[in-house]
Amino acid sequence: GQCIMACPVGALTEHENISDVWKDLADASKYVVVQTAPAVRVALGEEFGLPVGTRVTGKMVAALRKLGFDKVFDANFAADLTIMEEGTELISRLASGENLPLMTSCCPGWVKFMEHNFPNRLDNLSTCKSPHEMEGAMVKSFFAKKMGIDPLNIVVVSIMPCTAKKFEGARDELSHEGMQDVDWVLTTRELAAMIKEAGIDFVNLKGEAFDNPIGSGSGAGVIFGATGGVAEAALRTVFEITSGKELDTIEYTAVRGMEGIKENIIELPNGQKIRTAVVHGLGNARKLMEAMERGEKSYEFMEVMACVGGCITGGGQPIVDARTSERIDIKAERAKAIYSEDEAQSIRKSHNNPYIKALYEEFLGEPNSHLAHELLHTRYVKRSNY
Ligand code: SF4
Repeated sequence: GQCIMACPVGALTEHENISDVWKDLADASKYVVVQTAPAVRVALGEEFGLPVGTRVTGKMVAALRKLGFDKVFDANFAADLTIMEEGTELISRLASGENLPLMTSCCPGWVKFMEHNFPNRLDNLSTCKSPHEMEGAMVKSFFAKKMGIDPLNIVVVSIMPCTAKKFEGARDELSHEGMQDVDWVLTTRELAAMIKEAGIDFVNLKGEAFDNPIGSGSGAGVIFGATGGVAEAALRTVFEITSGKELDTIEYTAVRGMEGIKENIIELPNGQKIRTAVVHGLGNARKLMEAMERGEKSYEFMEVMACVGGCITGGGQPIVDARTSERIDIKAERAKAIYSEDEAQSIRKSHNNPYIKALYEEFLGEPNSHLAHELLHTRYVKRSNY
């Protein structure tokens, strides 16, 4: 999927997806919900001449409302949900010793890489759907019921930094009762194109807040956008679940940074050690997988992102001209913006998000419950290598 940036066929796909979304927005019988990934808010401003690393979260929400979306949700809410589900999965795999290391599954580029290259290891992948797919599933079940809307009339649009998410959104496995969890995936660049097409003066918009009850995320959700973020978010929650108490230290800086493969041993309050590998870039992932196959490496937990630096440099992000990228370290600036967005949140741990608590109380029961499995988890298929 990463080639779309450069290839003319990709341009055509982009154009078609924008028209599809315009069509649904104009259709009065459709209830159109949009959600945005963490990496979008730290890059979208670049399309409107703002400096690299500018956070435009509030302006982005305001622009989406102006475009006519009925609800504007934050995919960070679902990132928090992913942490609840995946953290619980990690704790139970550590207890049983089965299918370790647990490998993150929120990057479709990495999941597809595994399906093609290491089908023998598919049981290691977390069964969790990626956050925006979880959000779509909650919109068409919990939210639809709460609002009294027929889910068949709901359209879910995801704004993602990622071109691989377009393929992911169409996967058969990511549907329920004949409905896809997510109907359309637009990239950061495509959203910018729509804002421009609508003639919205983006830079001068006044910031607005996301909708609820399934649209506010914690600081742990936002760091999903940078390499190491999912691991850090998971650690914040797994630590507290296993210790049973609130802890002060919530920044696990060892998993941050731009080194290609970051290895750490994290000791849980119960004394259990988690050998963690955080990997970004598929070249690094292949190296590490091969070392594991040779028996030279083993871990309990692995976070893998296909893009170097994580989603902040995804294939759907603004393209920075060569002159600017010589002067500025784009990855570092966007990552810095992600971590300041986290620091700016009053709630910084997924399990403390009050809307997440309410979702479990009112609807899902517990993490990894039967209903949670039905709606929030998936399976993987061996794909031929060509
Ligand atoms: Fe998409 Fe890249 Fe993020 Fe993977 S790392 S989800 S391919 S943007």
